Amino acid sequence: MAFNVRVSLPVYRPPIFPERCVVCGVAHPDDWARIRTRSIGWWVVLFPSLSEEFAIRAPACRDCAEGLSRGLRMRQIVTTCIVLAGLTASIVLAGHLGARAWHAFLVGVVSLAFGVRMAWQWVFPAPLDLTAYETTVDYRFRDRPYAEEFAAMNGVSIKPAPALPK
Ligand SMILES: [Zn+2]
Repeated sequence: MAFNVRVSLPVYRPPIFPERCVVCGVAHPDDWARIRTRSIGWWVVLFPSLSEEFAIRAPACRDCAEGLSRGLRMRQIVTTCIVLAGLTASIVLAGHLGARAWHAFLVGVVSLAFGVRMAWQWVFPAPLDLTAYETTVDYRFRDRPYAEEFAAMNGVSIKPAPALPK
């Protein structure tokens, strides 16, 4: 099972990246990967335009940058499809379920979308992924040495991986 390595920086601090492609590791790549995310909260799933956008660029070869943004876009499409399917189902079910069951169903849809997104990060970790919170941003790297170098350049340490159930 693959894991990514998490480095957390304050949201206002521009990240400093090693002079290597964040995907394949080649030195002095010729392009940049542009990665955008929105600060996290339940409303992001339903109303993405309500949250603040956070964008960075990381050194990458042109092909690597395209592959990276394609992968992240695909994950976004799958998550959005789950939410839309869930919302459609909730509209259809609205007349048949009681108010409590209907609310529980809506919460379930949002939880499922977040769950799929997290599972996706876990099983198919992107070379670089961002999660923005109110005051911090988590940079998730697939490559541990790259993450360690990134952390050192930014004066922080990598976050320990969550413990696995035994
Ligand atoms: Zn590359």
